[in-house]
Amino acid sequence: MSTEALSVSPQALWEKCLQALRENVGTSTVTLLFQAVQPLSIRDNVFTIRVPSQFFYEYIEEHFSRLIVQTLRRHLGQKARLEYEVLTTLDAPTNLPSQAGPSPTILPGLRARQPFPTNLNPKYTFENFIPGACNKLARSAGMTVAERPGQTSFNPLFIYGEVGQGKTHLAHAIGNYARLLHPDKTILYLDADRFTQQYVDAVRSKQISTFLSRFENLDIFIIDDIQFLIGREATQDIFFHVFKGLHEAGRQLVITADASPQDMRGLAERITSRFSWGLAAQLLPPDYETRFNILEYKVRQEGLDIPEPILHYLAEYIQSHVRDLEGVLIQIMAEASINRREINLALAEEIVQRFQPHRSKAITIEQIIHAVSDYFRIHPEELRGKSRRKEIAYARHVAVYLSRKHTQHALKAIGERFGGRDHSTILHSIEWVESYLHTNRELSKHVQELERILFRGA
Ligand code: ADP
Ligand code: MG
Repeated sequence: MSTEALSVSPQALWEKCLQALRENVGTSTVTLLFQAVQPLSIRDNVFTIRVPSQFFYEYIEEHFSRLIVQTLRRHLGQKARLEYEVLTTLDAPTNLPSQAGPSPTILPGLRARQPFPTNLNPKYTFENFIPGACNKLARSAGMTVAERPGQTSFNPLFIYGEVGQGKTHLAHAIGNYARLLHPDKTILYLDADRFTQQYVDAVRSKQISTFLSRFENLDIFIIDDIQFLIGREATQDIFFHVFKGLHEAGRQLVITADASPQDMRGLAERITSRFSWGLAAQLLPPDYETRFNILEYKVRQEGLDIPEPILHYLAEYIQSHVRDLEGVLIQIMAEASINRREINLALAEEIVQRFQPHRSKAITIEQIIHAVSDYFRIHPEELRGKSRRKEIAYARHVAVYLSRKHTQHALKAIGERFGGRDHSTILHSIEWVESYLHTNRELSKHVQELERILFRGA
């Protein structure tokens, strides 16, 4: 155990933790989030901090505790632990005998906070919403409105994009972040379908004013999938009423949809025109880099063991939705754990095919090896093997060239599939074919015929 543990104060140790957090998660998050946290004590190897609510505790525990504990270990030794003292609403004076005055130990603001179901899913946060060119504007505008709800020109913040692009995730992340920064604000997340359902129920039970009173005092109203109001005239009317009231009172509105305000046919014009008053930000299909980062993040989160070349391959081929990226990972894990298959490129290729049945056929290295060995009447193992016999080396050059041209694999990955050859050997094969392709008629005929065989029926 380090001797420093005896001398360091909770304050000083906390400052070191904050320093590490700043370096890893950025200054603004740390300032905003951790100003509400108080270092309490160090006893033996246990460091205790006080957090203002259960939600804070869960959030810090989920996203930052690993980093904090790393720092603690450096100063308190390997057995260092982090503990929280949570000021829950149970500590609030309402639990005391009714005459008792307010408890002085409760942080200001907490008492005023009324329990109100926000419908927010704590699982979706900004920390696990991977940034990228495809979501840059929507993400940063979302953070801004969470930080300063109703105080920016991003009102409403209108987020649109196709299915599976992260609208719901971002909507919850905005709510969760705002809740963290402004525990006293009233936030509600509803998808338009549930809004409709609740309205219909209210009409049926003649409770419309109760229904409306739910929205009157909201500081932040997040409504997901507004396109569900299309074709529902009465619900649109009431939504317009709610929207207008909140907007005029300077409250923050966040709306998601599957199309831009201009393209929202079937919604009343007076509604869609108001959507354009704030900021409309589009979520685009994720670019390659974001796809790779999302995969890498999910793999790390789940503690999975998937080699990097496979992640590159998946990021290259699954171009549709983030949801498909998750689906592919799940299937790979299922094959590996249930069917005991090795996680390799052949498995990845097979699963990618399952996800893209309608896409023009993606050719695999395996198919190329088989087509080439069939064509030259040699054994696939000879292609992968060490033989330098002239006709085998020739076939191997062609197979490598076709693999490079028609798959998205990197040289290194191709080398692995051809008996573990290194990338310069692979490069040599490709260059050899390229240099003779236009002068050697026989070679160009072989390549063309093989391509015809490979793409037949594609
Ligand atoms: P939408 O509401 O647009 O149909 P979702 O928000 O439900 O899409 O997103 C689909 C899935 O993809 C969710 O599991 C979500 O967490 C994940 N996802 C989307 N975008 C990202 C991102 N940038 N980083 C991490 N996960 C994402
Ligand atoms: Mg959604």
